[in-house]
Amino acid sequence: MKNLVVGAGLSGAVLANLLATILDEKVLVIDRKNHIAGNIYDYKDENTNITVHKYGPHSFHTNNGKVWNYLSKYTKWHYLFLKTNVIIEGNCVTVPFNLTTLHQLFSQNLANKFEEKLISKYGYGVKIPILKLKEADDEDLKFLAKYVYENVFEKYTMKQWGLKPEEIDESVTARVPIYISYDNRYFQDKYQGIPINGYTKMVENILNHPNIEVLLNTDYKSINEKFDRVFYSGAIDEYFDYKFGELPYRSLNFDIQTLNKEYYQKTAVTNYPNNYDFTRITEHKYFLDEKSDKTIISVEYPEKFELGKNDRYYPISNPRNHDLYDRYKKEAEKTPGLYFIGRLGDYKYYNMDLAVERIFEFFEKEINK
Ligand SMILES: Cc1cc2nc3c(=O)[nH]c(=O)nc-3n(C[C@H](O)[C@H](O)[C@H](O)COP(=O)(O)OP(=O)(O)OC[C@H]3O[C@@H](n4cnc5c(N)ncnc54)[C@H](O)[C@@H]3O)c2cc1C
Repeated sequence: MKNLVVGAGLSGAVLANLLATILDEKVLVIDRKNHIAGNIYDYKDENTNITVHKYGPHSFHTNNGKVWNYLSKYTKWHYLFLKTNVIIEGNCVTVPFNLTTLHQLFSQNLANKFEEKLISKYGYGVKIPILKLKEADDEDLKFLAKYVYENVFEKYTMKQWGLKPEEIDESVTARVPIYISYDNRYFQDKYQGIPINGYTKMVENILNHPNIEVLLNTDYKSINEKFDRVFYSGAIDEYFDYKFGELPYRSLNFDIQTLNKEYYQKTAVTNYPNNYDFTRITEHKYFLDEKSDKTIISVEYPEKFELGKNDRYYPISNPRNHDLYDRYKKEAEKTPGLYFIGRLGDYKYYNMDLAVERIFEFFEKEINK
C-alpha cells in the first residue's frame, strides 16, 4: 500500500508512525510549512538558548496512560505542573480561580467568609460552575459568582472570540468553575510535562522510521503521484476548494519579544481579561526551566481568520458550522481511500492527548481492521 499523509503535525506524525511500525507500510509525509510538528512546533532561540513555542504555549497533560506511554517512547519529560496567573484590578493572582485566589484578592475577613461558605455548601476539592454559584440562595456567593464571571471570563471571552457582551452565551461561558481548593496547578491530570528536548524533537522521533519519508515546503496541490490512501490533516473546506463555503476559524497573532531581563513575570502564562487588546503573555523559559540572563515573551492577540493572511487556530463551534462541516464530510466519503484527520480535518479543537487518542481510534477502526 502506498500512503500519503498530508501534514507533519502531531496527528499526521502519529498516524504515519502507526502505518510504518504496525503495518510495515511505506508512508510519504508532506507539509507545506518549512518545518515539522505543525502547531506544536518549538525552536531554540539562538541568542538566548530558550525554547520558544512558536504557535502558542503548549503544556502536555493527560489521564490517558496509553497516550502517555506511547509518547514516552519518543521523548523523556521535563515534569511540570503548569501554573498560570490572571491580572484582576491590577493584581496578579492565581487562575483557575480557587481558594488561593480568594485570599490574594479580598481582605482576610471577606476571603475567610467566602471560603467557609463555599466549603460548607459544596465541600473541599469540588469544582463548582459559576452558573451554579450564581443560583445559590446566598448573597455572598452570588456576589462572588458575579465578580468572577465579570472579571475573569466575560471580557476574556469577548476578546478571545471577538464578541459583544450580548453575543456571549452565558450558559456556555459560565460553565467554567471556581475550584474550591488550594491546588494551584492549572491541570489536575495524572500525567503532565514538556518534552525535554522540545515538541519538534519528539515529533521528529515519531517520524524517524525507515518506512517514512518527509517532504517539507510541499503543498498537497503540487503532488501528482497516485496513492492508495490519502490521510489529510489540513482544512477540509480548503481540500474541496470551498465549494460549500468557508469553515470559520478564530486566529491569533503572536508578538514574540526578547527582553533584556532575567524574568518578566512570575509564571509561564499570565492572562489579561480586562485590559489591553491581547489576552495573555507567555514567558517561554518556564516550560523547561531554562536559564538565561535574557527572557523571551510572546504577547497573544486574537484576531479574525482571513484566508491567506493568517493561520487557522480555533474552530468556531456552532450548529451552522457543524452542518457545513458535515456536508464536506459526506463529500469526502464519496472518495475511497481518502480520510480526514486531525484538528483541521475534523474541524474540532483537540488537546494534544486527544489528538493522539483520536488517531489511535481512527487507526484501529478504519485501517487496522
Ligand atoms: C494557541 C493554542 C494553544 C494550545 N495549547 C495546548 C496545550 O497547552 N496543551 C494541549 O494539549 N494542546 C494544546 N493545543 C492543541 C494542539 O495545538 C493540537 O492538539 C495539535 O496541534 C493538533 O495537531 P494536528 O496535527 O491535528 O494539527 P496541526 O498541528 O495544525 O497540523 C496540520 C499540518 O498540516 C499542514 N497542512 C495543512 N494543509 C496542508 C496542505 N494542503 N499541504 C501540506 N500540508 C498541509 C499544516 O502546515 C500543519 O503542519 C493548543 C492549540 C492552540 C491553537
